Amino acid sequence: MSKVKVGINGYGTIGKRVADAVNKQDDMEIIGVTKTRPTFEARAAADKGYDIYVPEDSIAAFKNAGIPVKGTVKDLCKAVEIMVDCTPGDVGEIYKAEYEAAGIKAIFQGGEDHSLTGISFNSSANYSESWGAQLSRVVSCNTTGLIRTLNPIDKAIKITNVYATLIRRGTDPGNSKGGPINGLEPSVKLPTHHGPDVKSVMPWLNINTMAVKASTTLMHLHTIVVELQRESTTEEVLGIMKASPRVKLVKSSSGLKGTSEIMELGKELGRNRSDMYEIVVWEDGVKVVGKMLYYYQAVHQESDVVPENVDCIRSMCKLEENASVSISKTNKALGICR
Ligand code: NAD
Repeated sequence: MSKVKVGINGYGTIGKRVADAVNKQDDMEIIGVTKTRPTFEARAAADKGYDIYVPEDSIAAFKNAGIPVKGTVKDLCKAVEIMVDCTPGDVGEIYKAEYEAAGIKAIFQGGEDHSLTGISFNSSANYSESWGAQLSRVVSCNTTGLIRTLNPIDKAIKITNVYATLIRRGTDPGNSKGGPINGLEPSVKLPTHHGPDVKSVMPWLNINTMAVKASTTLMHLHTIVVELQRESTTEEVLGIMKASPRVKLVKSSSGLKGTSEIMELGKELGRNRSDMYEIVVWEDGVKVVGKMLYYYQAVHQESDVVPENVDCIRSMCKLEENASVSISKTNKALGICR
């Protein structure tokens, strides 16, 4: 079987991870990645063997830096069947017309609006909605985190209301421009956009979100209160979470007290870039009282959306009709247990 030809537009935090994840699958391959400037990341990509495509007006800069260029972004569009757009938020929409003109499929990321594609994607919740689609959008890291745990709970018990507070990382570890570097910054535009973004995949869900930016780069942390339609037990909810794909239960009592230790666990597991693709839930921090469920979860913003991008390619390119089969295949290739 020939492999689906994939391009990455924007080889940054998400793009470089999706590139490596795609190359680990046996049914798809990276044809090339784009960079706008000849940075260390561009050189690392070339050293890894990726063909580099650049905007027309960047060719000279790459030549001066001694980084080989295979062609322009337009050339990459002609060479692939599907482009995974990992450019910064709101930049992706500029490329939509170019992808359409080239007749290729495209996946956008959570920094773009749902209206750009009309379909938003999560592997477990709505894999089939992107089946054969020309355009789709993998929801943001926070939204992916919320859907990964809320969707299986809603399926099994039904949810009346969700109240979630997102304690967000100030910036990514490799970015020295973001912040705050000391302090906590509440999002005062309420409710925050995260609830509506979850609804782009689970439109029926009543969800209310607030957010605070914190001076950390490692992970986001969510505090979640769920009002269930019926009484449940802590054991029932833990059973659901244990069976849910890409949800990892850990115990605070085992030493995994916070996000620092969780990222250390990523290193211990020998993951590519120490990534933690799963949403991490503290088992000893899950509690049900009557119809109310309380839990905490940590989200590795740099990597949780990576396996979803791989599954989204499979759905859009009609490589595998069964969501669970695609999830298992992606998980196996990335070293994710469940
Ligand atoms: P990033 O800044 O790390 O990487 C973006 C890449 O796109 C860089 O390599 C940059 O050089 C390149 N780029 C910039 N302008 C470009 C242009 N005009 N044409 C082509 N390439 C261009 O950004 P990121 O964090 O990887 O985010 C990418 C997308 O993923 C955004 O939509 C973002 O909202 C979403 N996302 C980010 C995170 C996260 O925490 N970093 C998590 C989930 C989703």
